[in-house]
Amino acid sequence: MTALQDARTSTLARNYDPLPVTLVSGEGSWVTDTDGRRYLDLLSAYSALNFGHRHPALVAAAHAQLDRLTLTSRAFDHDLLHPFADRLASLVGPLVTGTPMVLPMNTGAEAVETAIKAARKWGYDVKGVPDGHARIVVVDGNFHGRTTTIVSFSADPDAHDGFGPYTPGFVRVPYGDAAALEAALDEHTVAVLLEPVQGEQGVVVPPADYLPAVRAACTAADVLLVVDEIQSGLGRTGSTLASELWGVRPDLVTLGKALGGGIVPVSAVVGRDDVLGVLTAGTHGSTFGGNPLACAVGMAVVDLLATGEPQARARELGARMGERLDVLVDEGRLAAVRRVGLWAGMDVAPGRPGGPTTGRELCGRLLERGVLAKDTHGRTIRIAPPLTMSTADLDTALDHLADALP
Ligand SMILES: *Cc1c(COP(=O)(O)O)cnc(C)c1O
Repeated sequence: MTALQDARTSTLARNYDPLPVTLVSGEGSWVTDTDGRRYLDLLSAYSALNFGHRHPALVAAAHAQLDRLTLTSRAFDHDLLHPFADRLASLVGPLVTGTPMVLPMNTGAEAVETAIKAARKWGYDVKGVPDGHARIVVVDGNFHGRTTTIVSFSADPDAHDGFGPYTPGFVRVPYGDAAALEAALDEHTVAVLLEPVQGEQGVVVPPADYLPAVRAACTAADVLLVVDEIQSGLGRTGSTLASELWGVRPDLVTLGKALGGGIVPVSAVVGRDDVLGVLTAGTHGSTFGGNPLACAVGMAVVDLLATGEPQARARELGARMGERLDVLVDEGRLAAVRRVGLWAGMDVAPGRPGGPTTGRELCGRLLERGVLAKDTHGRTIRIAPPLTMSTADLDTALDHLADALP
C-alpha cells in the first residue's frame, strides 16, 4: 500500500505527512524497514535519539525499572524522584543562575507551559506585576510546541492559523536583534522566552553577541531569561546546553527530547528555586511527570552526559561533518549551511541542473540511498545524527548526501 492510499483509507489522523518508509527495528544509528532494508538515521527523532536507538545503558535502566515500579502518580513519592532531581540539578545547575530546582514533566510543550506558568506567577507574587498583566517576550521563527497557548505566539501560519481565540500576554520581536528585544521589555514583562539555536526553523544560529546582550537586558530589567533547550540541549551542540557556547546562564531552561533517551517522554524545567518555588501544591502538576520509569531513564541519560563524552563526540563528528558540508556549499551544490555541533540545517540550491528543488525532494533522494532526514520550511533539511554514530557511518551518510546533490 502506498503512502497516498494509506492516507486515504487510514483511521489515523492526517496531522503528519511522513516519508514513505515503515520502520520495524532500530539499533544505534541504524533502522530497518518492513522490507528488511536498512537506513542510517540522520534525524534522530529531532534530537530525541541523541544516544541512538536502544542505547544499551538506557535500555538496561528501563528494563530494570519495568521489573520494579513504573508509576505512582505524585500523590506518593518514589525512591528515584529526588535522586533524579539531584542528578539533573548537578548536571545543569551550574549552567543556570541561582540555586537550581527541577520540575519534571513529560513532553517538551508541557515543560514550556510550566516555564510560562512559573514566570507569570513569579511576576505576580515576586516582581509585583498587577494581576493579569504579565507579558512574555518571544521571537520570530520560534518553535516551542503545539498547545493552544504556545501556538498563540507562533509566527508559522500552519502552526498558528485556525486555532484561536489565542492566549494573550505575548509580544514577538525579530530574532537575533538584541536592541529590538531590549526595547520590548517593560515593567509588566516577566520573561523572555527563546531557543538559543532555532532547530525547527532550520538550525538558525544567532549572531555571537546576541545571547549575551539578551542576558544583560533581562538582568537589567528584572526579567527572567527562559531558554528552550528541548532540541539544542543535552549534547547536540557539543556542550550540555547550547547557552554555554555564548557563556550565557538562563534563569530557567526547558529540557525534553533526549532526556527520555528515545524510550519514554521525559521533560523538565531546571532553574532558579525562587522562581520554580512559586509553584506550590495544587498550582501545577502532571499524572505522569517524574514517574519511576521516566526517572530511571532520565538518570541514565544524565549519567551519560556527566562523562562529557557525548558532548566531545558531537564536537568531533560535527567538525568532520562541517568540512564536508562546507565543500558542498563552495561547489554550489547547496545554497547554504548553518551548523553548530553535530547539527546542521542546509538549504537546497534551486535551479541547479539535476539537483533537488525542495528539501522534501532531497529527503526522497536520501531515502532511496538508505539515509533518513527530514525537510523543514520548503527548501531546508535538518540533520542531527545520533551523537553515538561511528565515524565510518557518518562518512557513508555524507557520501550519500553528496551523491544526492549533483
Ligand atoms: C520539540 C520541541 C518542543 C516540543 O516538544 P514536544 O515533546 O514535541 O512537546 C519545544 N521546544 C523545542 C525547541 C522543540 O524542539
